[in-house]
Amino acid sequence: VLSDLSRHIGAIGRGQLSEGDVYRRERLYAESRAAFGPPGVLSCPICGTAACRFLPFGLAGRRNARCPGCGSVERHRFLWVYLRDHTRLLRRRARVLHVAPERWLMERLRALPHLSHLGTDRFSPLADVAADLTRLPFATGRFDLVLCSHVLEHIPDDAAAIAEIARVLRPGGRAVVMVPYDPKGPTQEGRAIADPRQRLALFGHPYHWRINGNDFPDRLRAAGLVPTVVDSRRLLSGHRRRRWRINRNHLFDCVRVGA
Ligand SMILES: [Zn+2]
Repeated sequence: VLSDLSRHIGAIGRGQLSEGDVYRRERLYAESRAAFGPPGVLSCPICGTAACRFLPFGLAGRRNARCPGCGSVERHRFLWVYLRDHTRLLRRRARVLHVAPERWLMERLRALPHLSHLGTDRFSPLADVAADLTRLPFATGRFDLVLCSHVLEHIPDDAAAIAEIARVLRPGGRAVVMVPYDPKGPTQEGRAIADPRQRLALFGHPYHWRINGNDFPDRLRAAGLVPTVVDSRRLLSGHRRRRWRINRNHLFDCVRVGA
């Protein structure tokens, strides 16, 4: 998504494009089938593409980041390897709410007949239900699993969004959450900063409101979500991280407490 976003940074800065205008663009969600060279040592654990190089990605053009086969970036591959190989979440019957559904993940979840999958987003044409994460139109306790990757940082009132995730989960249900996360310090936040240019400078993205820090697990706990922090460097060997192109990343695997 960001690689396309980088083309719009100028217009965003001049106020010619709103967040909705940007995220409604169908091509942000288009499947990636880039040309790539001969098979190599890099391998995508999502789509199986083997290549000498992956594509650059992000506003800074991170090298070997984006899979030329499925378009996934490092954090997507970490999330998928975690869900597939390190949990039983995708092996049993579950009602899944997929927030801001990524195409590659949506296709794989929908192929599993024991899962019922529902995508929701404010803008994305891939969503089944258009909704704001701070006011979800779903009954309390409706879902067994919520997947929410790199969404909360787009929401000024993230506490309201986290509370909604907790509300729509049944007790004992799970939420797997990812956010931009730097555990070296507290959350850096700017809810009053409206100018996308300023937010780009502070948080690395014109539509992010914060970079979450070491207090993020407490924000989850405050809503009744008990997180286990999963660090890609602890979960996966160096060999696997190099082969799959997975960088240092964290995810939060949360259990919904309460009756
Ligand atoms: Zn791939």
